[in-house]
Amino acid sequence: MKQKPVKPTPPPSQIIKEGQDPKPQPPPTQTIREGQDPNKTEKLKPEEKKEIMDNAKDIVCKSCDKNVFEKVFLFKKISKLLTGTPEDIIIPLETFRCVQCRIIPEEFQIDNK
Ligand SMILES: [Zn+2]
Repeated sequence: MKQKPVKPTPPPSQIIKEGQDPKPQPPPTQTIREGQDPNKTEKLKPEEKKEIMDNAKDIVCKSCDKNVFEKVFLFKKISKLLTGTPEDIIIPLETFRCVQCRIIPEEFQIDNK
């Protein structure tokens, strides 16, 4: 004697087979961390940002007009007499130079005052 059990069928989106994990949800695009003021982050809309970038002037190398730079370091050595440490201290300073002629443009020069 067989009788069809009468069960209300759940909507398809809610069917989860046993032993099968539901797909992990992707994290929401706008995660706001505690203690972080959302107003402090980017206020510009992507299209506004694009417009600003489109109108922005490239920094170009004065000798070759190229606008591509690579990261280089200058090093400052600070005498142990000034720092009071047992050894002199070397501090790396990051700057950029033209990839083509290797000149550091004025904008990236580090003052030697
Ligand atoms: Zn150059």
